[in-house]
Parts: sequence; structure tokens; C-alpha cells
Amino acid sequence: MAGRSVGKGFQVVIVGGDGYTRRRMTKAKITKNKTKQPVSLVTGGAGFLGSHLVDLLLSRGHRVIAIDNFVTGRVDNIAHLAGNQNFRFIQQDVTEFIFLDGPVNYVWHFASPASPIDYAELPIQTLKVGSLGTHKALGLAKEKGARFFLASTSEIYGDPLVHPQREDYWGNVNTIGPRGCYDEAKRFAEALTMAYHREHGIETRIVRIFNTYGPRMRLNDGRVVPSFIGSALRNKPLAVFGDGSQTRSFCYCADLIEGIYRLMMSDEVLPVNIGNPREMTVLEFAREIIRLTGSKSKIAFKPLPKDDPKQRKPDIGKARRLLKWEPKVDLESGLQETISYFRGRV
Ligand code: NAD
Repeated sequence: MAGRSVGKGFQVVIVGGDGYTRRRMTKAKITKNKTKQPVSLVTGGAGFLGSHLVDLLLSRGHRVIAIDNFVTGRVDNIAHLAGNQNFRFIQQDVTEFIFLDGPVNYVWHFASPASPIDYAELPIQTLKVGSLGTHKALGLAKEKGARFFLASTSEIYGDPLVHPQREDYWGNVNTIGPRGCYDEAKRFAEALTMAYHREHGIETRIVRIFNTYGPRMRLNDGRVVPSFIGSALRNKPLAVFGDGSQTRSFCYCADLIEGIYRLMMSDEVLPVNIGNPREMTVLEFAREIIRLTGSKSKIAFKPLPKDDPKQRKPDIGKARRLLKWEPKVDLESGLQETISYFRGRV
């Protein structure tokens, strides 16, 4: 059985490897859900995006249960919720059976290593959480009659042959390459979600998230935003792969989470892209980070990693049309917020 306290004021339930043994370490009592307060379960709730989602749900009146095994998440991301009567945390691997008393209205499945460094280090865990973890989360949604939401990814498009990527593009993925464990896990998760919808009639939603950044990312998670900001704040060279002409588009986390919330509350069953269509080269982006941090860093060009996508840009026409959503936070404001978060951590 796992045994780790995650801070004062949490109600923590630690679930053992068999998925059935439970030990309570209760500091805060959960008040009974007397009103029609919606109940949300967020897997990966101590991660970067999961913790922002938890905050948004609490601010919109949900009671929230977060599940995380801290494989890439951190207590720090949810520490501010200690003592919040509407929040409960369960430390558990979601590939194990999820045993939960009481009603659940929404299941948000966000658990998965998400950065290339993380899933290169944890390829089997990544495949397991995308397959077995999604299966367990869908099983819980079925048992509770809850609506299920899958956090999928633009990676399912692989190294895309069409540009920008629309939801009806089927992708160009190397199944056996270094990104295969993540891409195929998410593609399986999408297929399983649709199978549960078709066979069991459960309500499901699928978002394909494009590069998102913001406070609570880990400085060393290998993704371009924290890597560049970390190097710039230390006045170290910014490592740009290839000649830096590959493009990326970056969405600020608050914009993404709003889009995700709207999608869950919509009627759309088929996948929807959420991301920021403003495209820039990695080299331009590196220069922008140097400018905004006032750094003395130079740019260091490094060999291009295998299967690094050359272009990534979402077509968000569907989100605009169905959800009346589009990003609102401009790159400079989002980066300023993120830089000030990282300044205290370098
Ligand atoms: P993250 O690593 O910060 O968060 C993932 C969380 O899931 C972590 O807290 C981790 O500990 C937890 N987790 C992983 N495996 C688990 C398991 N077996 N059991 C319980 N908890 C587990 O990453 P993130 O950027 O917040 O990504 C969240 C979700 O969004 C992921 O599913 C990811 O694939 C998806 N996504 C993110 C982005 C992005 O730009 N951030 C882009 C596309 C998709």
C-alpha cells in the first residue's frame, strides 16, 4: 500500500496496488452534498492541466475529486486547495480499479505523462494509462451514469501531412518510433471512448489538445516553453532543434481550460481541437523568450530529434462554431504570467 501524506487539510484516500484496500487520512471533513452540486472526478488532477481544471470546476460550483499517482504531477499544484471542503484527493494509479462511493456526474480523464521526456522515460506506463487507465475511467463513468471526457492530443495527427490539422484528418503516426507509445495510447483511448459511447450509450467528449503552456509546468519537463524560459532565466543557451524553422502554436492554459469546460457542457461527441492557431517558428519563439526575460542567452542549434513534427497548427473552426470559443490571451501576456511563475523557481 502506498503511504504518503500530501499536506494538511486534504482528505486523502490512498489506494493500494490491488485497488481495493483503502486507508483514510482525513484532516478535512467533506460536507454532505445536500444540494444539487455537480460532482466531478479529475484523473491527473495534480498535473499541470488537471490542477487548472480542478480550480475552474471549483470556481464554477463543482465538488471535485482528484486522482493522481504523482508520476509527473506535484503536490504543489494542489497545495492551495488544502482545507477546501469541496475538494478531495485520492492518491492512486488509475490503471487500477477505481473504487468510489457516492455520485459522480462528470469524469475528466487527464492522467498521462504528456511531455516527450516523460513518455520516453515511462513508455509502458504511458501505454498503460492510455489503455487500462482509460478503460477504468470509462468503467467508472458507466457505473455512475456520468459524462466522460478524454484529454486527447494533437499528437494523434503524428507528423501531419495536411496543414492546419482539422478533426477529420486521420494522422501520420509512426507506431514504433519514440513517440509511438504516447500517440498510439491516445489513439487507442479515443477508439475506446467511442466504443463505450456506441456500445454502452455513455455520454462522451473528446478534446484534441494542442501545445499548451502556463504556470505549474515543470521547469525540467522538456517541453519547449519551460525549457526556453528556464535557460533564459539562467542566461544559458536556448537549445533549438534543427534550424528552428519547424513551427508550433502555443495556447495559454486558461484559454484551453475554458474551451474544455465548454466542450464537456456541449452536445458534441466527436473530437474537437482546442489550441491557439497563431503559428510561429521555434526560432522566433526562442527570440521572443529572450526578449521577454531580458536574458543574455544565445541560441544553440542541436540535431533534430527523430519524428519531431515539422508543423503543428490547429484548425479551430469547429470549436469556434460549436463552442463559440477561441483563445483570448495573447502570447506576450501568457508568457509574462509563465515567466513570473518560473522566476521564483529558477
Ligand atoms: P502532466 O504530466 O502535468 O499531468 C498528467 C498527470 O497525470 C500528472 O499529475 C501525473 O502524475 C498523472 N498521471 C499519469 N499517469 C497516471 C496514472 N497511471 N495514475 C494516476 N495519475 C497519473 O501533463 P499535462 O500537460 O497536465 O497533461 C494532462 C493531459 O493533457 C494528458 O492526458 C496529456 O496527454 C494531455 N495533453 C496535454 C498537452 C499540453 O500541451 N499540456 C497537449 C496535449 C495533450
